Amino acid sequence: MSRYDTDYRRMRFNTRAVKSGEGPDPVTRAMNTPIYETSTFGYETAEQYDEMLERGAQWEPDLYIYSRTTNPTTNALEKKVCALENAEDAVITACGMAAISNALLSNLNAGDHVICSDDTFMCTSSMFADILPSKGIETSRVEVLELENIEKAMRPNTKVVYLEALSNPQLKLSDIPAIAEIAHAHGCLFIVDNTFLSPCVMRPLDWGADLVVHSGTKYYVGHGDALCGIVAGRREDINRVRYYYDNLGSHISPYDAWLALRSVRTMPLRLKQQSENAMALAKWFEARPEVDFVTYPGLESHPQHKLAEKLFVNGNFGGMLCVHLKGGYEEMCRFCDATTIPPIATSLGDVVTLMFPKKAYNNLIRISCGCEDVNDLIEDFEQAFEKCR
Ligand SMILES: *Cc1c(COP(=O)(O)O)cnc(C)c1O
Repeated sequence: MSRYDTDYRRMRFNTRAVKSGEGPDPVTRAMNTPIYETSTFGYETAEQYDEMLERGAQWEPDLYIYSRTTNPTTNALEKKVCALENAEDAVITACGMAAISNALLSNLNAGDHVICSDDTFMCTSSMFADILPSKGIETSRVEVLELENIEKAMRPNTKVVYLEALSNPQLKLSDIPAIAEIAHAHGCLFIVDNTFLSPCVMRPLDWGADLVVHSGTKYYVGHGDALCGIVAGRREDINRVRYYYDNLGSHISPYDAWLALRSVRTMPLRLKQQSENAMALAKWFEARPEVDFVTYPGLESHPQHKLAEKLFVNGNFGGMLCVHLKGGYEEMCRFCDATTIPPIATSLGDVVTLMFPKKAYNNLIRISCGCEDVNDLIEDFEQAFEKCR
């Protein structure tokens, strides 16, 4: 037993974020996990190699044969993710869509049926509208805030219930424990995309979800410099995902895994600041005469605010808010154009505040709050309103 074998999973969340999954490199004693940029791994004898191939097919941890399947840098990230999601096992993929497609494809076959919430990320919507149906998988989209809609959509061949915990872009919060109960009563696997909240705000596996998926590109990486996807859950479910991700070729590069690994250590600190900034901005926007309404789970005006208080941890309500201005499309454009700090850009979860205006959603301005001083953000939004007058 080495001093570096401590089980940090017994400790608190911030300690796990910093310490879990890492230790001195077994070869060099490097304290930071090296970037193992190698496609293959060399063995001594044919017999040893053959034995490794047998064990590799069982997804044994810390066993490396080829980097499409497993890589030591990626493996360190997997262990850290497990500690934060309270998961038995996790797979890291090239991006969020690779995580989502592998989680779905490894649990759905031709002739099966899947229920999905009505508000999801664009590419996820394409999966349910087009890609899965084209492979013979039936899909239903339902408004999951009304639990009876899920019951009504159940069929004898329903295998999976899928949703985003806090939905993109409308920020609807699903009742994860209640929906888990319905899904399990019908023998379904419950998959939750928790990209918009991160495990610093809510952990779906603790509330009965079977698999949690993330676009790690967003809060996990947090600096807008790498793409990453995550699937976490029970070992037997993750092994099935591994089989698909290996054979479909959905692996992340060791370099991007390393960028994510170093970023996760500060994720709790970032989310704390981002949540504080979002709360202050949400309250500020809500009090402005130019604003029709603000959507933020931390506001009492959010329809699922009480549920957020129940499910969320550490008093964080996340960094995502939506603002609707009274002046419609013209006003949305003029306001966004007049700001100087936030870029107008896709993506979220960055240390930099990002602004995503969308006409198709009732002229919604989705704001992903970063870690800037919130007073500078408020002053910038204030001068933008002044310019719009
Ligand atoms: C961005 C996003 C995805 C897709 O993730 P990528 O890393 O871009 O592939 C999936 N779900 C949600 C909710 C997202 O915001």
